[in-house]
Formats: sequence, structure tokens, C-alpha cells
Amino acid sequence: MMPAIWDLPDFDSHEAVHVFDDRATGLKAIIAVHSTYLGPAAGGTRFWHYADSQAAVTDALRLSRGMSYKNAMAGLSAGGGKAVILANPARTKPQDMLDAFARAVDSLGGKYITAQDVGMSEADMVSLSKVTSHVAGLPDQGGDPGPYTARGVFLGVQAAAKHALGTDDMSGVHVAIQGVGSVGGGLARYLADHGAKLTLADVDAQRAADLAVELGGKSVAATDIMNVEADIFSPCALGAILTEASVSALKVRAVAGGANNQLATGREGRMLADRGILYAPDYVVNAGGIINVLRHIENADDAEINRRINAISERLAAIWAESDLGGKTPAEVADNMAQKLIGR
Ligand code: NAD
Repeated sequence: MMPAIWDLPDFDSHEAVHVFDDRATGLKAIIAVHSTYLGPAAGGTRFWHYADSQAAVTDALRLSRGMSYKNAMAGLSAGGGKAVILANPARTKPQDMLDAFARAVDSLGGKYITAQDVGMSEADMVSLSKVTSHVAGLPDQGGDPGPYTARGVFLGVQAAAKHALGTDDMSGVHVAIQGVGSVGGGLARYLADHGAKLTLADVDAQRAADLAVELGGKSVAATDIMNVEADIFSPCALGAILTEASVSALKVRAVAGGANNQLATGREGRMLADRGILYAPDYVVNAGGIINVLRHIENADDAEINRRINAISERLAAIWAESDLGGKTPAEVADNMAQKLIGR
């Protein structure tokens, strides 16, 4: 028997989980509100074809809790939430279905603020904003979060170098980057500007090869990037890439990257620590985008956005210092800090 939603391992005391089923347009969507303790629950909308509806619920719950932690640790006055729209196999996205989703967001009266995520385009977000005002990160409000995320990830990689290698001078520091899209590509450019040695990989092998030529690095097959001997591994593609097998194969001193939910089960945080590999908790490292996306809600100007992104380095240093003292892994320390911030 399927467990009740409260009993799901990822439920984690969500304040609310809203399920929408609009027969007329075919919309099936979930809006998960993990916490509004610090402000309206903010987090993107993912448009994805899931194997089954259970997978969609799990994704929504995990992503929503992740946003609570991310927003809290970034010092934002926003709680955490996430929406998923269950796409059909052909991933068709008719306008009337998007309108129905926008009405669903609107029906929550601002308790949930949406933004762009996987499968949703900038144009989709603009179309939602015609129906509901609870949309953040529109093109005229800062637009693409990628460059802001990339800058935060660069600062996270630099902080990891400082803690694990004893230097924040990146010249000659070897960083292996998995995924060179918006975030990983931006990170590679920052690192190249600072003289780092780069090994790049992407499932789009040409993309990695071209960037490596442009920046003076090397590219390897996507299947090999986690076996590269380097100083720092930076996952900037998919989640759940740190597994028992992949952690035991790593040949690096630190892991710091932009991908969401890097630890496959959570236990890998301990495995990394046991192997003496420093871990930079993903939601602390990759908060640059949401810091910028929420600039309107936060009334933050460019200087304030920069200050908040710069604070990623200090936050990581504080997490690692507490981890070094108390024996908890950096992931556990970060989770505890985030839970305290959201009153749990
Ligand atoms: P993107 O789609 O622009 O880039 C992802 C890149 O990874 C693509 O080039 C893709 O080909 C590559 N890729 C996919 N699977 C791969 C694999 N198995 N091995 C190697 N490369 C692979 O996405 P993005 O915006 O750069 O986001 C990257 C990650 O960062 C995602 O996990 C995303 O959730 C996370 N993230 C992004 C932002 C943001 O502002 N864009 C913010 C927070 C977190």
C-alpha cells in the first residue's frame, strides 16, 4: 500500500502540499510549501515528465525542503517551496495549461512565489506573470539566474581551496567540472580568469571540448570526470552524483559545485568526510541565483546582491569550522544551521 503523504521519507513536516488537477487543460501539478517561517515560500517551477506520480511528489518535497534551507542560509526573508508540473511524455505545454497553473499559483494568495526551473522558459514565466503576480525573476527583474549562481559557485570553490589546500589563490589549482552549461560554463570562465587548471566534461562532449580550447583547459568524456585526479571536483550538471561508488573513486581534496541535491542518499556526506574530502553543501554554494531572483521581494540593489553572494564564502568557512570542531559532517552542520533558522 502506498504510504500516506505524512509518512513519506521526504515529507519533513511540510506546511502544505497542494495538488492540482485541471481536467479541462490536462494540468497536473504539485505545489509543495515546506516552510513560510521566514517569508513566502519561494522556489521554481519544474516542468518534467516523471516515471510516475510518486516520483513527482518525491521530487517536489525534496526540492521544496532544499529551497527552505537554501533561502534561509542565504539570509533571505523567504521560506521554501517548489512546484512541479507533470509533463506528458511528449512534454507538450499548451498555453491554457500554463494559464491553469498560473491560477493555481495565484490561488495560494502569495504564500508561494514561483520562478524559473528546469523545463520552464523565460517566455513561460512571462506568460504566468500575466495571470498571477506571484512570479519572481522575470526578465526585467534580473532575468537569468545562471551567471549569479556561477559567481557564487566560484566563491565556493575558492573557499574550498582555502580550507582544503590552504590557499585561495586559484592559480594552478586543478578543478574538474562536471557539466559546462550555464553554471559550470560560467564557473570555468571565472576559474580560467584566476589562472586555475581546468578539466571539463559534459554529455555534450563538443561543448566541453570547445570551452576547453577557448579557456586553455582539457576535456574528458563525461563518464570519466569523477575519476580525474584534481584538487577540486565541481559538480555542475545533475543531482545525486555522489554515491557510495563515485565517492570511493574520487581523487580530489574537495567537492564544491552548483548542482542541486548532490548527495544521493545523504550518507555520502559521511563517506566524503571519512575519506578526508571536504564537502561544500550544495544549497549554500548555489544560492547566488535565488539571491538575485528574489531581489524585488527583498528590495535589494546590485550592491546588496553582491554582498549577499560574497557572503557564501564566509558561510562555508563557518560550516567547515563547526564541522572541524564538533565531528559533524559539513552537510549535517549546514542542515542543522538551516533548520534552526527556520524555527525547527
Ligand atoms: P544547464 O542545462 O545550463 O547545464 C547543465 C549542463 O550539464 C549541460 O551542458 C548538460 O549537457 C550537462 N550534463 C547533463 N548531464 C550530464 C552528465 N551526466 N555529465 C556531464 N554533463 C552533463 O543547467 P545549469 O543552469 O547550468 O544548472 C546546472 C546545475 O546547477 C543543475 O543541477 C541545477 O539544478 C543547478 N542549479 C542551477 C542554478 C541556476 O541558476 N541555473 C541555480 C541553482 C542550482
